Amino acid sequence: MLYIDGAWKDARSGATFEVTDPATGRPIGQVADAGVEDVRDAIDAADRAFPAWAALTAYQRSEKLYAAYELLQERHEDLAKLMTSEQGKPIRAARTEVTYAASFLLWFAEEAKRVYGRTIPSSRADQRFMVMHQPVGVTAAITPWNYPVSMLTRKIGPALAAGCTVVLKPAEQTPLCAVEVVKILDEVGLPPGVVNLVPSLDPVPVGAELLRHPAVRKLTFTGSTEVGKLLMAQAAPTMKRVSMELGGHAPFIVYDDADPVRAATGAAMVKVLNTGQACICPNRLFVQRGIADRFVEALVGRIAKMQAGSGFTDGVQIGPLVDAAALDKVDRQVRDAVARGATVATGGARLTDGALAEGHFYAPTVLTGVTEDMVIYREETFGPVAPVIVFDDEDEVIARANDTDYGLASYVYTNDLARAWRTVEALRFGIVGVNDINPTAAAAPFGGVKESGLGREGGEEGILEYLDTKLVGFAV
Ligand code: ADP
Repeated sequence: MLYIDGAWKDARSGATFEVTDPATGRPIGQVADAGVEDVRDAIDAADRAFPAWAALTAYQRSEKLYAAYELLQERHEDLAKLMTSEQGKPIRAARTEVTYAASFLLWFAEEAKRVYGRTIPSSRADQRFMVMHQPVGVTAAITPWNYPVSMLTRKIGPALAAGCTVVLKPAEQTPLCAVEVVKILDEVGLPPGVVNLVPSLDPVPVGAELLRHPAVRKLTFTGSTEVGKLLMAQAAPTMKRVSMELGGHAPFIVYDDADPVRAATGAAMVKVLNTGQACICPNRLFVQRGIADRFVEALVGRIAKMQAGSGFTDGVQIGPLVDAAALDKVDRQVRDAVARGATVATGGARLTDGALAEGHFYAPTVLTGVTEDMVIYREETFGPVAPVIVFDDEDEVIARANDTDYGLASYVYTNDLARAWRTVEALRFGIVGVNDINPTAAAAPFGGVKESGLGREGGEEGILEYLDTKLVGFAV
């Protein structure tokens, strides 16, 4: 079903599309397939709802977000199970994601009340300056399949807190999770039109309408860099605000003073986060020569033990990849690396034993001897493959780490404070984890530089993406 102007409805065309479980390839549900006219209805509803929603007090908007936070927590287990069926991640990871998703509603329920302005001294005795923030307006949110609940709350939370209204187009692979999130928002009594949901099998015409329509004043997008660039170009003629959370190619630097086993444990965990399908997954593991053998041994030990399968099976850490194209991409990168001289230390092939043949499973893999001429050295993998590169000194590794068009997450393992500090400053990335593989939280600004995107989600920065700044010059 579509959710437009506070009502659940079919698409005007009556079209629907099927959603499948990536672990089994079996259908698990149907949703309405929005067309351009439905999107226009949704934008009109959001536009009509905007003035009254923006005029509520921050406290009133905050109350709705608190209520949504509580209801999301109540439905925690049901949502986690749905996510595992629809997206494939192991149930424990799905539970973690629901908790993470809820944390954005809570954080922005609080931040709603902290949209402070400021006054600025003037050089004129008869003048005062005041800076105030006001909601941008109707916001289009286009979200990905890999985090099908938290990427929604990370956008809807701050948008609603700021006083914006939203038209949400979720990924075609995971619309069922989006329906459940919107049901929660409906049940807490958001006024009609404040949030609208338009799932669509073909994102192209729906995206084009969201970006063409002059009433939409802001696009918030998480997805690939390729699509991000396309959408930014489409946003240009009407000069919409954009925030873009795009691809990454995270370096994971391990200096020789670090504990190789601890670093390898961290690397293994963050590499298989969501089966490698996260934009903060390391895509190049740089290890200093002196500890390279011990690091690789520990890494292979961890990765080789990981069990693949249905996310509902106990102990499974590796879920299916999202679709056949994702599997092909991973396979192609590994074959290319091997053809150019890399060694498969573990894994290196699709998994097809028994029930695994029904899904898109790839063995958790470690490649050693990875070099700059290999596709995997530059292209985001989005799969459970850890490419290891040996380096000799600090300047070299920083230059190599920065030698990418991406700039989202990066990681460094060292016990040398000065070296850590120098590396943090030199890395051209939006996020650096120092001996830390989870540098993310609702309270912290998440986002990238270069072709990893624009803007920040979470933190005190997160709400600013949905606010315009107004300057008032006041003669007294
Ligand atoms: P991924 O490669 O991770 O699937 P995409 O960038 O293709 O990432 O998809 C992220 C989101 O962008 C999804 O909701 C998808 O439907 C949407 N999308 C993809 N192509 C377009 C497009 N041309 N216009 C609007 N949205 C798009």
